[in-house]
Formats: sequence, structure tokens, C-alpha cells
Amino acid sequence: MTLRLGVLAIQGDAAENVSSLRDSAAELGEDASVGAVKSPGEVSGLDGLVIPGGESTAIGQLSLTNGSLARIKQRAESGMPVLGICAGMVLLANRASDPAAGGTGQPLLGILDIEIERNSFGRQRQSFEADVSMEAIGIPSFRGVFIRSPAVTSASSGAEPLALLDKKIVAVRKGNVVGTSFHPELTGDLAVHKHFVGLARESKR
Ligand code: GLN
Repeated sequence: MTLRLGVLAIQGDAAENVSSLRDSAAELGEDASVGAVKSPGEVSGLDGLVIPGGESTAIGQLSLTNGSLARIKQRAESGMPVLGICAGMVLLANRASDPAAGGTGQPLLGILDIEIERNSFGRQRQSFEADVSMEAIGIPSFRGVFIRSPAVTSASSGAEPLALLDKKIVAVRKGNVVGTSFHPELTGDLAVHKHFVGLARESKR
């Protein structure tokens, strides 16, 4: 059966993730339809959703207003795989703060019991690349692109750290939900997106 994969296209780098998912599905020989989604109705029809990087306050506010935030939460809690990238990982959390701005009170999905520090590695000018290891999901080495990236400062209730950098948690998962501080769509390496396509296929079996 065709896998229906979506990328939340409210704000941020949706197009790159659509390409990465398409290429991943093709390499895996998966029959998949991949597209950008915005509305709650579009979210409802998916077997897996990527929430891309961008500005978590904007993505959160706009998806709260159009009703997608509540629908994503409901679908994720009933088993739909979700990959949250950078700002997308911020949205997965139930608590987020920004050292520059103080407590943010921004809308969040609250589907992972994690605490997030936004912009944990500094501002845009301090963007960098570093190798990270996600052994638990079969990715021993991955080139991470960090752009105003968040870090997970505490994880509980089964949220499992997947990768560390400078003693900070930069990837996390719980069941069908995975978050990364870095941007896997910005490297030629499809390993993270392929893992996600695999999760979507598993959840549809
Ligand atoms: N700093 C952004 C935020 O907290 C995330 C940046 C990104 O997605 N590259 O929303």
C-alpha cells in the first residue's frame, strides 16, 4: 500500500525535506506519495509527518491557529511517526526556554516529555557542522548541520537520548517520535530520512 508522507509546510525548510523523503522512498523501493501539508485534514491522511526546521514560535502559532497542532498531537499519540527537525524538535517538547529571550510560553505539541533549550549552541553566525552518532537507530556516524539549534536539557518518561554532542542531547526518540537538533535534509546522507520512512512503513503494517 502506498505510504502517505507529509512535511509540515507552515514555515521553514519544507521543500528540502520533501526531496529527502522522496529520494529515501525511491532508494528503499517504497511506494510513497510525499507532499507538503498545512491543514488538519491533510495531516489526518498521513502515515508519517516531518516537522521541519524554521522558527518554532512561528510554526507553533500558525499551526495552533489553523488547527493542525491539535491534529498532529492526536495523530502522533495514536501512533503516526513524526520526525521533528530543529524547530520541529522544539515543538515535540512539553517545555522550552530560550536563554536569550527567557521563558517563551510558545505553543508546543507536548508529545515528548523533554525540556528544550532553544538556540543552545548560539546564534546564526555560530552555525557549524559536527559528526554525531545514533547507534540505537543503526546510524553510527552522521554529519550534523547545526543552525541555531536547540538541545534537550532533560528527558524522562521513556524519551531516550539518541545522540550527544558536547555532553548535550542532540537527538531523542520515544516510540514513533524522533527529534534531531541538526538538519539531516541539508546533507547528501539520507540515513535519518530512510529510518523515518521505515518507521512509517512499520506503523502501517
Ligand atoms: N532557533 C530556532 C527555534 O528555536 C530553530 C532553528 C532551526 O530550525 N534551524 O525555533
